[in-house]
Amino acid sequence: MDADNVLEIFHQIAGDIRSGLDELDDWGLSGGHPGQYVHDVVADEIAIPILLAAGLGVVSEESESQGLDRPVIAVVDPIDGSTNASLGIPWYATSLCAVDSDGLLASLVCNQATGNTYVAARGMGAELNGEPIQPSRKSEMKDSILVFNGLPHSYFGWKQYRALGSAALDLCSVADGTFDGFADFSSGLALWDYAGAALICSESGVVISETNGAKLDFENLLKSPSSRIRLLASGTQSLHENLIDSVDV
Ligand SMILES: [Mg+2]
Repeated sequence: MDADNVLEIFHQIAGDIRSGLDELDDWGLSGGHPGQYVHDVVADEIAIPILLAAGLGVVSEESESQGLDRPVIAVVDPIDGSTNASLGIPWYATSLCAVDSDGLLASLVCNQATGNTYVAARGMGAELNGEPIQPSRKSEMKDSILVFNGLPHSYFGWKQYRALGSAALDLCSVADGTFDGFADFSSGLALWDYAGAALICSESGVVISETNGAKLDFENLLKSPSSRIRLLASGTQSLHENLIDSVDV
């Protein structure tokens, strides 16, 4: 299975989830695990059968892992930014990432409110709605507009910031140069939150790491996908080093 095959399946899933959401009347809590919404469950129930039928294994935020002995595993966040979705805030996404024995193979992150769709394939760059993307070139903190997950401990010199509530879309918005950097001050993100966006970031030229500067080790992360890590992403190496110094204290 190559990246093109995978992306065709991912596009189909994103579209099917959008159709499923269009028919939804209840955007409230599911009564399942804490913080799980009806739309999370609906989206998961659409995505997982398609992935399994296509021969992929699955690791999802919303259901048990399946088919982990298969050569390509899909890491799935059916809806990232579920609270935004429940409030009608148009910043929530389906995030899908295929992982093979060489690492991240292909990914798709689709804003389900606007239809904006990011894709990336290993070694092939990243796109938004079919057009190549690249990050901003800001190197100075004082010139940078950052997007945050969680609350910074103190002001460390940014020009402006936003906090929007979908890490997948926040990271993709660094990949396309909307924001100059991303920093996580929460208790961390699970693999399904960031795997799709991580490939879109790295293929666009974004520098991405843990807050201490450590590179992401996907072989290990896949073994415990619910374990949480804190990420930084920046359009330039110099802004990234500045962010590491500011955040990892
Ligand atoms: Mg989710």
